[in-house]
Amino acid sequence: MTVTAIRPDGSQEQLAEDILQELQAHFRGAVLAQEGAQDATEPCPPWNAMFTDRPALVTRCTGTADVADAVTFARDHGLLVGIRGGGHSVAGLSTVSDGMLIDLSAMRGVQVDPVRRLAHVQGGALLGDVDRETQTFGLAVPLGRVSETGVAGLTLGGGYGHLNAKYGLSCDNLVEAQVVTADGRVLTASAEENPDLFWALRGGGGNFGIVTSFTFRLHPVGPMVGFAGTFYPLADLGEVERRWRDYALDAPREVTTFIVTMTFPAAPGMPEVIHDRPVAIVGAVHCGSDIDAAMAELQPLRELGSPLFDMSQPMPYTAVQSAFDPFFPRRALRAYWKSQYLEHLPDDAIDAIAARALDRPGPMSLVNTFRLGGAVHDVGAEETAFPERSAPFMVSFDSMWTDPAQDRAAVAWTRSAWDQMTTYGTGVPFLNFTSIADEPLDAGVGSAFGRNLDRLRRIKTTYDPDNFFRLNNNVLPLG
Ligand SMILES: Cc1cc2nc3c(=O)[nH]c(=O)nc-3n(C[C@H](O)[C@H](O)[C@H](O)COP(=O)(O)OP(=O)(O)OC[C@H]3O[C@@H](n4cnc5c(N)ncnc54)[C@H](O)[C@@H]3O)c2cc1C
Repeated sequence: MTVTAIRPDGSQEQLAEDILQELQAHFRGAVLAQEGAQDATEPCPPWNAMFTDRPALVTRCTGTADVADAVTFARDHGLLVGIRGGGHSVAGLSTVSDGMLIDLSAMRGVQVDPVRRLAHVQGGALLGDVDRETQTFGLAVPLGRVSETGVAGLTLGGGYGHLNAKYGLSCDNLVEAQVVTADGRVLTASAEENPDLFWALRGGGGNFGIVTSFTFRLHPVGPMVGFAGTFYPLADLGEVERRWRDYALDAPREVTTFIVTMTFPAAPGMPEVIHDRPVAIVGAVHCGSDIDAAMAELQPLRELGSPLFDMSQPMPYTAVQSAFDPFFPRRALRAYWKSQYLEHLPDDAIDAIAARALDRPGPMSLVNTFRLGGAVHDVGAEETAFPERSAPFMVSFDSMWTDPAQDRAAVAWTRSAWDQMTTYGTGVPFLNFTSIADEPLDAGVGSAFGRNLDRLRRIKTTYDPDNFFRLNNNVLPLG
């Protein structure tokens, strides 16, 4: 049976059965075409339900050799490729319509070297896979806040989470990567080997090759950490966020804190006073080893107003890392997110955020404010590709809904909230929290990478001159 797949220019390539058999002959994973590529039981389907496009061909890799073969095959046949790690792209970059998907979702192995304090993580691992293994040794990599997110996309785009203030971004803790480049070579990227590629991988996204293995530096964390989760009425957000800001600016590095606004669902086990109620949740993690001291340092966050409910307590680190999972079910939600950095958080910016939080387009939509700083700001803006190393806050408008009829209204609301925030913010987006509806893939890249863009384009030209890896926040090669 012949498979028709598209090339980047939209033209079609016919792949006869014997050609696919040749690929499968060496491949350890699965080569799925036609009905197989429409597989509804795939392990990590795209998280964002707005993007249900199907590939013509899926190569589900089991290791670096499979990835290299898949890249070479796609290259030889001129196919348009998409790359999937954890499938959690907010922007819908987990799939490719009618092209070839190189799927790493079967590559979830994690190996911890507790003596050297290193973790070796395969390119399709989810955050929860890493936390599970590293916590066995009382160690952790700073990763994100939802355990089903892919390590790959998150790290290559920077990676904010609960340990940032103390230990930096996920990409700041990368010490080595194994990468399959567009010509099918397998390279090591580190401070010693291919340092330009290593620089670009730390924040530059999926532009430069497919990372089959990440080696991260580990830190002692847990098994218990201090956790603050205090629910205030959303109507009080203005006052609460002013006090939160003043606390956050002086908080110790062990504390990473944020405010999430949402309409809390009628979740079993949670008190009725917050059921279906708009709330502002002041959250924080304290990663210090003295739990009593940690809870004492978090105490002011529990007294920013009159809480409706307070679930602050010492908690296992792994429980904190998956605490937000129920709000982000895979493939169930349509999503359009936009974020922006803030150099200051003056009272009028807080008032604008509070007004937008009351005016969210639906109960599942969030307006979040994150405190950034600490170790994230210890790294120079040009030391890695990730250039944002000074803004103390970020605001994120995360619209989520289920009815396709709401697409236009939700996207429009998000854009208008983001535009309004440019009065107070830098206008610079965080690409991991940036959606794409009808924007070109290189739309936010210029402002997101700023003065690092030229260097990224030179490195792109060296490793991927034909823009083989183009379904990403696309850095265009020169020329
Ligand atoms: C519910 C939710 C919570 C989130 N929380 C956070 C958070 O706390 N902090 C944060 O920083 N971000 C967060 N994000 C954003 C997330 O980091 C990005 O969407 C990221 O791209 C997801 O990575 P993935 O591997 O799951 O993505 P995928 O959809 O699998 O891939 C997206 C893109 O990443 C690249 N990519 C994936 N795997 C590889 C690989 N092995 N090698 C090279 N390139 C690859 C490709 O360009 C691909 O198109 C969250 C997203 C969601 C949906």
